[in-house]
Amino acid sequence: MEFQKLRDCRFDGSGHFKLDGYPTDVHVEKRLKPNFEALTEANTQRMAELQDKLYAEGCEGVVVILQAMDAAGKDSTIKHVMTGLNPQGVTVASFKQPSSEELAHDFLWRAVTKLPRRGCIGLFNRSYYEDVLVVRVHDLQKTYRMPKRVLDTPKDDFFEQRYRQIRDFERYLWENGYRVLKIFLNVSRDEQRRRFLDRIDDEAKNWKFSSSDVAERELWPKYMDAYEQCIDRTATKEAPWYVIPADQKFYARWLVSEAMVRVLEECGPRYPELPAEQRDDLASAREALLAETGGHDDRGERDESELTVALSENS
Ligand code: ATP
Ligand code: MG
Repeated sequence: MEFQKLRDCRFDGSGHFKLDGYPTDVHVEKRLKPNFEALTEANTQRMAELQDKLYAEGCEGVVVILQAMDAAGKDSTIKHVMTGLNPQGVTVASFKQPSSEELAHDFLWRAVTKLPRRGCIGLFNRSYYEDVLVVRVHDLQKTYRMPKRVLDTPKDDFFEQRYRQIRDFERYLWENGYRVLKIFLNVSRDEQRRRFLDRIDDEAKNWKFSSSDVAERELWPKYMDAYEQCIDRTATKEAPWYVIPADQKFYARWLVSEAMVRVLEECGPRYPELPAEQRDDLASAREALLAETGGHDDRGERDESELTVALSENS
């Protein structure tokens, strides 16, 4: 079979977005799972190299947005991506139901407070996109305490305004040295049912299950419409969406790792070059250190047996 490549998952706003053109499953044969795991592992290492430079250089920030229906694998994707990264340069933020403090502000406010510094990667488990997804599906905008001129805006116009605000916000981020990687883990309704059943049957997974998840599932077509519209209106060249088939976790993880490597490569990070005078400082520090052993470089002279003794003494 033809595997779906990352570019097949990408939508950058050219043309009209239709969700049914994007599969939830490409039916990779099970026997190929280890191959994909090996490819993911290789990407994980590449990510680590790139992140090291991104952090050292400190000039471009990356925001990774993960959106999906329940049980699509957001949490485990984040866990996986994290294994390849230096925790010092990564933050994770989960966007749950807004607190009253958050609701008292504009909807982008809480996301702004969670932006990573430049040089770092911010993983967003859900995001301000909830404000055009769950909010739209449940008409929550009607419950907001806002002036009449806002509340009287017809629903479609209200959300068109939000799509524009999001595009503008992401453009603002782009112009301020950030890249936004937007991932929709596209799981099928059938696969969600199976994963919910697993959560119910497996005691270790019980904590992940909430009966409200089943209620939300009933609204599946409304959610899919909301996703379709939102992806159509907010995908841009600078901040495209990746619609990733998520029914096979090992395959989705590989695609996410491809997307991560791609965005980090686009940043093109490089270790900063020291200015000439700091290089002179390095040279004189080197001389001073070598002078302690009479100019003799003794690195690599400690043999293995010496190390073994040192280790056993410490244990
Ligand atoms: P899990 O995989 O553990 O279930 P989760 O991301 O679904 O993780 P929950 O605490 O179950 O976490 O759900 C968070 C809920 O908060 C989601 O149903 C989401 O739609 C909702 N939510 C997020 N942002 C908003 C928002 N701006 N307005 C209203 N609801 C929101
Ligand atoms: Mg949930």
